[in-house]
Amino acid sequence: MQRPVCPLCLRPCSACWCAAVRPQVCSTELLILQHPQEAGHAKNTALLLQRCLPEAARIEVGELWDSATLAHWLHGDGKHSALLYPPSAPDPQLPLQPPPPLPGAWLHEPAQLRLVVLDGTWRKSRKMLYTNPLLQQLPRLALHTVPPGRYHIRKAQLPNQRSTFEACVLALAQLGALQPAQQQQLDQAFAHWLHLQPQPGGFFAALQQKRTHPDTTGYT
Ligand SMILES: [Zn+2]
Repeated sequence: MQRPVCPLCLRPCSACWCAAVRPQVCSTELLILQHPQEAGHAKNTALLLQRCLPEAARIEVGELWDSATLAHWLHGDGKHSALLYPPSAPDPQLPLQPPPPLPGAWLHEPAQLRLVVLDGTWRKSRKMLYTNPLLQQLPRLALHTVPPGRYHIRKAQLPNQRSTFEACVLALAQLGALQPAQQQQLDQAFAHWLHLQPQPGGFFAALQQKRTHPDTTGYT
């Protein structure tokens, strides 16, 4: 007999994490391009983020998009699209165009900005960038170094890497699109979500393999 599945978080009801969701309003739009392997996975932090930012965040699952569709998503409404991605080290197997600089004026208008996020393992997100040249043409936003003392529990487990949820919340806070109280709510949502995961030891180990969003400091 199949286990009952929660229709909202798509997990077995015994592992439902919907109680962790804390919906917030955010002025910057978030477009999450999610690798298909992440979509049905237990550690789908992008789905938690989409549930917490229901009006601002949307997820498109795929690996390769036709350029007309992608151009419409990125530029169809006149907003500025920036890619949340750290400076990339050269990789002869997956060479990338150098990104244009991020115009400083964009940072003063968070409501006119769309943050584009690649949700996949580090290698898969690099490949998504490689196979979708329009994404390479986006200016990039890199995360500032996080003040010491934050995320200290997970830092010990996951040096220089973050889940999609954490990376996006930090970026939105950095842009001023989230107020400090909202960031705190989202931090608490993530902590609650982690708490609701079965077998946290195995879960941390799985996340550690993932290496979704290395710190910019990971390259120094
Ligand atoms: Zn649920």
